[in-house]
Amino acid sequence: MSSLLIFCRDCAKQVASSQTKNGLCLDCQVRRAVADLRDEHARLWRKRERYRTQNANVEQIGRQISRVEDRMGQRIKELVSNEREAVDYLRRELESARGQRYTIKK
Ligand SMILES: [Zn+2]
Repeated sequence: MSSLLIFCRDCAKQVASSQTKNGLCLDCQVRRAVADLRDEHARLWRKRERYRTQNANVEQIGRQISRVEDRMGQRIKELVSNEREAVDYLRRELESARGQRYTIKK
């Protein structure tokens, strides 16, 4: 099977054209698809940390956070058919959301 190689127009990685959509590799497709949810996740996480220091009830925020994580998982599953890969992508996005949190909170 011959497959055309193209450069992702976002990260410039060389990928098989069959794995791209709108010139984007799967990594970039996933990153873009969950970008708003990742921001939301980081925002809620900071809010929860703030509430926690005030000894406020954080249970509800915890539920909101897991809902955002579920929605990220859903969006990733729409793009990544292989379930194990989808889980890897979700883990990576959550790790990056966590990193984002620490970066923003200066
Ligand atoms: Zn890319």
